[in-house]
Amino acid sequence: MKDKQIIIAIDGHSSTGKSTVAKQLAKALQYIYVDTGAMYRAVTLYAMRKGYIDVSHFDQEELENNLPLISIKFEINAVTGLAEVMLNGENVEKEIRTLAVSKHVSKIAAVSLVRKKLVEQQHQMGKDKGIVMDGRDIGTVVFPNAKLKLFMTATAKDRAERRFLELKERGENVTYEDVLKNVVNRDHIDSTRKDSPLRKAGDAIKIDNSNLTLEQQFEQILQLAKTTIKNA
Ligand code: C5P
Repeated sequence: MKDKQIIIAIDGHSSTGKSTVAKQLAKALQYIYVDTGAMYRAVTLYAMRKGYIDVSHFDQEELENNLPLISIKFEINAVTGLAEVMLNGENVEKEIRTLAVSKHVSKIAAVSLVRKKLVEQQHQMGKDKGIVMDGRDIGTVVFPNAKLKLFMTATAKDRAERRFLELKERGENVTYEDVLKNVVNRDHIDSTRKDSPLRKAGDAIKIDNSNLTLEQQFEQILQLAKTTIKNA
């Protein structure tokens, strides 16, 4: 008999490796992986390109009025087999990962109409279950009935170090201090916003991976997932 399909919700602070473990888990379980951060990042890129947001101003109303013109989709990259984000038909997978986008994304993600649009889409993607979704509000708002909820965290220093190395590897000219500032600032905005603030769901399992290797973390989470699926 085929295993029962469940929804796995992974939330947590910025740069805690949510997407790495979510991808590994989806592959091992043959589930679909949805990176909801990529969706907020794509809307942010749109707003930056249109000049709705920059370091000194944010025209929220303009963004809200133009939301119907923004289409966010995922397309599978035939080579890597991973889903990549498309903004109005353009593959923006690389561009949305820059520090420039990270600097504005939390402001955009605090806008209720933006959240409403993206959460509706996320509900659609999860309707057949068999999904691993990562973000900030998946276990609390998007899928409060998800069978397995994880909340990932690590010290800000550990997280900034990882993100700094990742950005450097991609050839971005960034300083560690800038990355640390961004990680701390995003967590602050994400945790204190009115709509769907980042918080651990009461029934989420907390995973502090400051002292775990990727392999140890994955093994631990895969076991949790297998047990949950068996008992579902
Ligand atoms: O996961 P990632 O770091 O790419 O997310 C970028 C930003 O998108 C977060 O800092 C947060 O502001 C926003 N976000 C959100 N809700 C989600 C996923 C991401 O508000 N479900």
